[in-house]
Amino acid sequence: MKNSKKGKNLISRRSSLKGVGAIGALAFLGSKTACGKEETFTGSDMTSDSSDTRKKIFKKVFQTPFIDTHEHLPDESERFGGSYYSYGGKSDDWTIIFGHYLCSDMRSAGMSEKNWKSFFSPKVDPLKKWSLLEPAWPYIKNTGYGQAVCIAIKELYGVEELSAKTVGKVQSSYEKVRQPGFYKRILCDLANIESCQVNSGDGFRETNMPTLLMQDIGIVGMLAGPNFELSKRPGIKVKSLADWHKVIDWWFDKYSKYAVAVKSKNAYDRNIDYEKVPAEKVEAIFNKKLDGQSLTNKEQKSLEDHLFWYAVDKATARHLPVKLHTGYYAIWGELKPRMPLSRLVQNPGAATALCRLSPETRFVFMHICYPYYEEMISIAKLYINAYIDMCWAWLINPIAAKDFLKKFLVTAPANKVLTFGGDYSPVEPVLGHATLARRGVTLALSELVEEGWLSLDEALELTDPIMNGNARNIFNLAEKTKALKNVKWG
Ligand SMILES: [Zn+2]
Repeated sequence: MKNSKKGKNLISRRSSLKGVGAIGALAFLGSKTACGKEETFTGSDMTSDSSDTRKKIFKKVFQTPFIDTHEHLPDESERFGGSYYSYGGKSDDWTIIFGHYLCSDMRSAGMSEKNWKSFFSPKVDPLKKWSLLEPAWPYIKNTGYGQAVCIAIKELYGVEELSAKTVGKVQSSYEKVRQPGFYKRILCDLANIESCQVNSGDGFRETNMPTLLMQDIGIVGMLAGPNFELSKRPGIKVKSLADWHKVIDWWFDKYSKYAVAVKSKNAYDRNIDYEKVPAEKVEAIFNKKLDGQSLTNKEQKSLEDHLFWYAVDKATARHLPVKLHTGYYAIWGELKPRMPLSRLVQNPGAATALCRLSPETRFVFMHICYPYYEEMISIAKLYINAYIDMCWAWLINPIAAKDFLKKFLVTAPANKVLTFGGDYSPVEPVLGHATLARRGVTLALSELVEEGWLSLDEALELTDPIMNGNARNIFNLAEKTKALKNVKWG
């Protein structure tokens, strides 16, 4: 199906207004937000001076491109004919944008397992899906997850309020927007994102859009030990720990030049308390695993600890920063959520040990370790090699994210923070997340000026570094872009 005339107009109108941040401008200075509430950013309770400050900061923040430091976007071509990240099969309808992350709030608000599965099922008529969502909708539309979806629905589909009346328009507009070129249109033209950094699972993905969807090397599978998926490409038959080291070497030799960082989400299964364990101490454990024998928890930890440092030392030698998941968990399709806070609370302490153990490694601690974010500011303040990435944070708790940024800028050096990563699989709600993040950055800077901690000029000067300059420096993006511009895979 071709873009309708109306769809094209929407895009071109937005594009032409990009200079002042069209999407945000409507939400921020206009009368309504995406979810239909009155805005108070420039409200009458403020003096005209503070209102003027907000307008100036707002304009600067919405004109400034983000470098998006964390996404899970598949290649655009993979989105046609259905999406692999929906539940119960390949769905290709408006509910895709709920599948990551609003699905989680739907469940915790009390939606039944049966309705939840039907909502994402390709076998259910898309127009009938509204009635499944309707009972939970009033309770979840105001969360960060909900607001990002509302903004996407409004800005991409021109629908103010999702309802029985509008679901048909949402579905037909979904199809009109999801056409070749929609990644660039949504990410660059509408969300004003310069480039993304994508985590595509283990190893490295040779994407069709190498300078827009830059890639991390995923290391979590490397830490687990022998894994056919990772040894298949190098064509190495793994019979010993030394062979497994060769598999890891292969990925780094082949892709370090093109990768922006390495990434591990191992914190979903354990604390990030990796000790330096020499190879000779884990050879027997590795062989046991190779034989298919089960390992004790202690053995598993030793093996992962050893392999973590093997991969991290490679990354450090190749000047690749190491991105580690910390804090809050996403549940994806898991119907029985798990998130042991007793373990998450130990992430900041373990992070300081990593910084001490490898001073040459640049560690990027992701997601502000929500809800333990105050600790992360102290880590960035003291450790030269610690950086904090706010990816996902505006979605989890937008107000906590704003407070984090505000406190960070008067506590730790401003070159140690990264302010945006959409952290999505579907591309559509990245637009909503970027808008929430810009709103939060504007508020954090405005409040710092209004409270007397920064001058207006100082706030404006910080905008470029925290929205894109820090990412450019930390991930050597000029060099990476040069390498990726002319890359021929295969
Ligand atoms: Zn992620």
